[in-house]
Amino acid sequence: MFLAEWTPETGWQDARVVPYGPLLLDPATAVLHYAQEIFEGLKAYTHADGSVWGFRPEANADRLQRSAHRLALPELPTDWFLGSIASLVAADRAWVPTGEERSLYLRPFMFASEVFLGVRPSQHVTYSVIASPAGAYFKAGLKPVDIWLSETFTRAGAGGTGAAKCGGNYAASLLPQQEAFQHGCEQVAFLDSVENRWVEELGGMNLYFVQSDGSIVTPELSGSILEGITRDSILTLARDLGHEVVERKVSIDEWRDGVASGQITEVFACGTAAVVTPVGRLAWNGGEVDCAKGEIGKVTADLRAALVDIQYGRAEDRHGWLTRLA
Ligand SMILES: *Cc1c(COP(=O)(O)O)cnc(C)c1O
Repeated sequence: MFLAEWTPETGWQDARVVPYGPLLLDPATAVLHYAQEIFEGLKAYTHADGSVWGFRPEANADRLQRSAHRLALPELPTDWFLGSIASLVAADRAWVPTGEERSLYLRPFMFASEVFLGVRPSQHVTYSVIASPAGAYFKAGLKPVDIWLSETFTRAGAGGTGAAKCGGNYAASLLPQQEAFQHGCEQVAFLDSVENRWVEELGGMNLYFVQSDGSIVTPELSGSILEGITRDSILTLARDLGHEVVERKVSIDEWRDGVASGQITEVFACGTAAVVTPVGRLAWNGGEVDCAKGEIGKVTADLRAALVDIQYGRAEDRHGWLTRLA
């Protein structure tokens, strides 16, 4: 694991790779009480020649800085972020898997490590990176996931922390996630907290809607939607494949009625962990629609292939998205 520490006096210091193991925390460590914590998620991919590559790690570095700003944590310089990833991958070289859809999942995170119960930004901060070999995210494979529409809970509010990748957002999504399981769904769709009308995203993935005319729509960034790097990459790849792509508000009625009328032909979710996953059923209290009928749609499949082919070095990296790590 990678570790580094920050204090206002020293700035970032003490960068080191040490054996993976427990952190010893004083019970009054600030993060345990006030949740001043942020994280990132990215993968390292082995190419056919044995080299190991990261996908847009600078974008993760940027986002970690934006998350840090929102949570009043110190920003980690981009070269420190990239150095932390490269040094851990070098140390864990033998753990980077090869083969179809396999990768080394990297989890950078930063938290308030000051021993202090007063409410103010922590004056001691710890940054760490851990890693784990990973296979496909959903055990079921590319079967469409069923989505529960949460009409009781929201994930993030206007002016809140929705655009920051912080643990607190996930804590708030766990109860609605349980509600989804109880209704036979794997994931939750959240609406905006003001009008309870506009589709935001899932608990950890952004959403796309494919229209019958071939154009593709994704909810515009509202300040409470997490700016996914996969979401951003799909914007570019879909245009490369000749689709018109529009970022705009999408209402829950447009989703429900669009699937029912055939105006929406495919829905998919995207994020680093699950890449691109077809969405099947949308269920809510009193009804459901299903646009996938158990299968992955053609546009979804093509976009997924375009993305993973770049990540695994099987297609030309036309946008300069890959960084060699080892
Ligand atoms: C991380 C995350 C995503 C996906 O972001 P990627 O950069 O594509 O992995 C989407 N929504 C939420 C809430 C997230 O935390």
